[in-house]
Amino acid sequence: MQDYQHIVDGHKVDLPLGKVVCVGRNYAAHARELNNPVPAEPVLFIKPNTALAPLGEAIFIPAHLGECHFETEMSILIGQPLTQCTEQQAQQAILGVGIGLDLTLRDLQQQLKNKSLPWEKAKSFDGACPASEFVSPDKLGDLQQQQIQLRLNQQLRQDGNTADMLTAVLPLLAYISQFFTLLPGDLVFTGTPSGVGPLAVGDQLDISLSEVIHCQTEVCLRKKEST
Ligand code: ZN
Repeated sequence: MQDYQHIVDGHKVDLPLGKVVCVGRNYAAHARELNNPVPAEPVLFIKPNTALAPLGEAIFIPAHLGECHFETEMSILIGQPLTQCTEQQAQQAILGVGIGLDLTLRDLQQQLKNKSLPWEKAKSFDGACPASEFVSPDKLGDLQQQQIQLRLNQQLRQDGNTADMLTAVLPLLAYISQFFTLLPGDLVFTGTPSGVGPLAVGDQLDISLSEVIHCQTEVCLRKKEST
């Protein structure tokens, strides 16, 4: 968990570091770029809190485990328990909105997918979820009109808009809560737009959500010996 803390509008919030529920293939163009079908229902998976890392600091990738891809995603910090909730209850439970990386060991994920095995080793390793500070949702306005951008070494590589989500934030939270209770301090990662690709040690990343959240970070090597 490194030094990760939940921070909203510049203030540390006193909530536990919970699980991170992620949705795969929530943008049609991203599903197509990895030759996956566009799903009829959200594809869900979970990262444990040990995957959390502060996005504003250097991010560490386990290069000895194969190619590690960036996926830039709008993130939601949950402030109230949600079990089989309505969209209205989901809206009231959003404490903060941020941006983060769903780091993915793509070679390993492909091997697991080929064997129809779960993805956890590829998605849920230590440090696999660098997450930004959050802002309260009123600072962003319509959550389905947010621009997600990632620049890799100053080149624009991801440039998506949350308008293109297959399942929008509120129905997504309601859907998740049919299976997993969301607790205060949990995060939801809402899927990546297209443009994903591999990271290399030394890469400089510049990540933003609309004009509101902006993070710069550098990719470092997580050595095998130190794990
Ligand atoms: Zn993702």
